[in-house]
Amino acid sequence: MDLNSVEEVVVVHGRNDLPHWRIGDAVIAGGTWLLSEAQDDLRRLIDITELGWEPATVATDGLELAATCTVEQLCEVARQLPADWTAATLLEHCAGAFLASFKIWKTATVGGNICLSFPAGPMISLASALDATLVIWRPDGSDYTASVTDFVTGVATNVLAPGEILRSVWMPATAMRARLAHRRIALAPLGRTGALLIGRLDRAADGGMFTLTVTGATTRPHVVRFPGLPERAQLADALAAIPDQDWHTDAHGGADWRAAVSGVLAHEICEELQ
Ligand SMILES: Cc1cc2nc3c(=O)[nH]c(=O)nc-3n(C[C@H](O)[C@H](O)[C@H](O)COP(=O)(O)OP(=O)(O)OC[C@H]3O[C@@H](n4cnc5c(N)ncnc54)[C@H](O)[C@@H]3O)c2cc1C
Repeated sequence: MDLNSVEEVVVVHGRNDLPHWRIGDAVIAGGTWLLSEAQDDLRRLIDITELGWEPATVATDGLELAATCTVEQLCEVARQLPADWTAATLLEHCAGAFLASFKIWKTATVGGNICLSFPAGPMISLASALDATLVIWRPDGSDYTASVTDFVTGVATNVLAPGEILRSVWMPATAMRARLAHRRIALAPLGRTGALLIGRLDRAADGGMFTLTVTGATTRPHVVRFPGLPERAQLADALAAIPDQDWHTDAHGGADWRAAVSGVLAHEICEELQ
């Protein structure tokens, strides 16, 4: 939709082009959310899609995704990763978890999804499950890093301060090499995610740790870790420790339903990885 209050769009080509941040500014990446509803408080958009960031960089110790990597590019990257990076399929599964149209597929970005910080953000699920480190630019020219679980603080809220820009998402090779299982459920066959759980069992050589990520069902990502695959009761206890207020209720499912299905899906994941 047209954003009638916007007076200026600044397209930046380098970090030095970033204008001094002021009230009424917003970063725009794919624009799939920003242009989908009225934004009456906005006066200026700062377009980061011409910064020329490589969508993905593969290194021996991990994968870096640029914040501007689109969902479509993410799937292309997944098909070109080293053969022993078994997490490649998870990239495609999480891309498929979008309630996506052609427009979302082509233009929505990994960074935009994380910065929007919706419970049903599949890039949040992906990055949480693979122990991603987010690199964030401050307006003063310095950077800082955060895990996704520290970054997302609630429904559509996160730690970003005005003028800060998510630059990249780094996923370590140890996580990329792990065995993964995931389960997603929605109230309707093509509905928005009600719960998306991902289990990751690291190789013995990488420590053999089991990590369960609960997203979609909760207001922010929850990650629980065990030294190896847990017993049924241990897993149930870990899920029971998620605070009641963190189970999410909206049109796509109630908190009690989300908590209940998460328990079932978590056990299925452990059985699959057994
Ligand atoms: C039909 C439809 C289906 C959708 N389905 C889903 C879904 O299933 N799950 C879901 O989570 N969302 C969904 N969305 C919402 C949205 O499209 C996605 O979350 C998308 O990934 C947002 O990415 P974007 O690049 O388009 O972000 P934009 O719309 O450009 O920006 C989103 C927000 O993030 C900020 N932002 C973007 N990039 C950065 C950055 N690098 N640094 C700092 N701030 C930044 C913007 O200022 C804005 O506040 C859907 C939207 C539509 C229209």
